[in-house]
Amino acid sequence: MIVVIRSDVSQEKIDHLIKWLSDKELIVREFHGEKQNVLGLIGNTKCIDMDMLRSLDIVESVSDMTDTFKASNRKMHPEDSIVKLESGGPEIGGGNFALIAGPCSVESHEQLTGIAKDVKVAGANFLRGGAFKPRTSPYDFQGMGSEGLDILLEAREATGLPIVTELMYLHNLEEFIEKKIDVIQIGARNTQNYDLLKELGKSTKAPILLKRGLAGTIKELLMSAEYIMANGNENVILCERGIRTYEQDFARNTLDLSAVPILKKLTHLPIIVDPSHATGRSDIVPSMALAAVAAGADGIIVEVHNDPKNALCDGAQSLTPEEFAKLSKKITKLHKALEE
Ligand code: PEP
Ligand code: MN
Repeated sequence: MIVVIRSDVSQEKIDHLIKWLSDKELIVREFHGEKQNVLGLIGNTKCIDMDMLRSLDIVESVSDMTDTFKASNRKMHPEDSIVKLESGGPEIGGGNFALIAGPCSVESHEQLTGIAKDVKVAGANFLRGGAFKPRTSPYDFQGMGSEGLDILLEAREATGLPIVTELMYLHNLEEFIEKKIDVIQIGARNTQNYDLLKELGKSTKAPILLKRGLAGTIKELLMSAEYIMANGNENVILCERGIRTYEQDFARNTLDLSAVPILKKLTHLPIIVDPSHATGRSDIVPSMALAAVAAGADGIIVEVHNDPKNALCDGAQSLTPEEFAKLSKKITKLHKALEE
């Protein structure tokens, strides 16, 4: 249920109403915007008499919310959410663009720090790199694990870039928290691992970069975000990374760019795009990245490798640092053009 509060009402009166609603075991989310003050009620709202609420002098309007996604719903929070890192640093959403770049997987100290320095110079404001890798084949490189995380920390230290890395299992969460991983990525294969999502809600306030499932719908993505948010962590960034369709020959996945403006309407959460996994082809990554910016994405996460041909993972879709530098310049130009 959405309760819009009149603009001239004192905080004391709002607090009084919040207390009364909370005593009815409802979760009350308070949103103070430039244009509107909104209370979003989650839980068994049937216990509330809507007409009685409407009749209160501090209330402007009351509407029922039938959408299944609540905490992530834009009706609850009409302005864009801005996701902040626990350590400070770059913000994501509400006009703050995230340019996340780095290799698919951490392969060595030299490889990662070299790429980290290159992408930083080129304009990236986050470094990506997988230490725990979800591979389709058990015979492929599975990532460096904890050692890879430590290499990421060294690259963060060397460049100042906050890091984005994938968590696959619940048993590694403590280590991610201890090592102060800036943004925890939940990959397409784990988007509906609800135990993992619940725990991410309860145990950390670190931003969660939540990828769309391999064949996930937009609603399923939002419901997965809901699992994290309903359990206490509101810092969720959604990521469109392509979905499985009948196209198999010329693209790894099909980039659903319409998801960007659709999600912008439905939710206040930032939405970023991964053109690398969406296409599987470095030759079309730049054009899809630019298309994502034009569609209104709050950021791009892109794979960059110093030696794509010999990469241990996803070389075919990795840009070289030089290609990334060119793309970064174009993204900046496009942003400026869109602002005009
Ligand atoms: C990745 O970002 O390296 C990755 C494995 O992505 P996805 O979960 O989207 O396949
Ligand atoms: Mn990859």
